[in-house]
Amino acid sequence: MMKKFALSALALSLLAGFAQAETVTVYSSRNEQLIKPLFDAYTKETGIEVKVLTDKEGPLMARLQAEGANTPADMLITVDAGNLWQASNMGLLKAVNSKTLTDNIPAHLRDARNQWFGLSVRARTMIYNPSLIKGEQLSNYEDLADPKFKGKLCLRTSKKVYNQSLVAMMIAQQGEPKTEKIVRGWVDNLATDVFPDDTKLIEAVAAGQCAVGVVNTYYFGRILDKLPADKRAAYPVKLFWANQKTNGTHVNISGAGVTRYAKNEAGAVKLMEWLSSEKAQNLYADKDMEFPANPKVKADVLVSSWGPFKQNLINMSKAGELQGAAVKLMDRAGYK
Ligand code: FE
Repeated sequence: MMKKFALSALALSLLAGFAQAETVTVYSSRNEQLIKPLFDAYTKETGIEVKVLTDKEGPLMARLQAEGANTPADMLITVDAGNLWQASNMGLLKAVNSKTLTDNIPAHLRDARNQWFGLSVRARTMIYNPSLIKGEQLSNYEDLADPKFKGKLCLRTSKKVYNQSLVAMMIAQQGEPKTEKIVRGWVDNLATDVFPDDTKLIEAVAAGQCAVGVVNTYYFGRILDKLPADKRAAYPVKLFWANQKTNGTHVNISGAGVTRYAKNEAGAVKLMEWLSSEKAQNLYADKDMEFPANPKVKADVLVSSWGPFKQNLINMSKAGELQGAAVKLMDRAGYK
């Protein structure tokens, strides 16, 4: 009797251990509202529970570092390749060898050492006010430095990582001296002080305060999405795909990596693979009006209405590697 009891207690504790191992714990800088429906769908499909802790990327990475081998986190989700590169550089992530992930996610959207993978694409391109400027007058980010745009350009602050990544990619492809000259030209052409966020910048273009600006398209999508469908075409801001005749529009990612000390590494990989799948990609990209990272998946209807575009295919890692150089360059150029 005693022996039988001991055995079933052992079986129970093994079962409990198994159930716990089946839980995947995620640290996410993407908000709950965005990722919760996704993880609920995963749990419904697989029975695997996903625990999430959300915070800004800085505190999450500091927490992962402080927790070290004791961290409960199996996966880190964040936006911007610069942040993912940083996490990898801090030794917080581990390489994942998954054919599913390398098949689903194009090479430029993931780490060459497989420590992180893009899950959605965010394009940073031009918007303009069609009553002030014609689309045909626009071409490349570089061209926005031309004196013909004097007093017409609006930019968000250089403190935002999105602009640091854009400039880092320009350094990677054109070198520092040329990039610095371009950034100085941008500063000379500013219509007004830099903006604290992309939404305010879009509103300033709509109001005619600036003729042209550079923003992430999902902010534009959110503004359009709030308008009645029949009012969207009349909104006085249009989108222009930058650098289509040269190296392609600058893109960035939101993405994920398995933590270095993941207790449930297999579970984290399985969840990441699912997130890269066609079903999850629709849920994930559409919710925030981003582009799916998996090229087999179509973007949301409104997002698709901006037409297909050529992405810059430079590897995302460069945004991290050259972030420091970009920050210094923008400071030298007087880009606030
Ligand atoms: Fe954003």
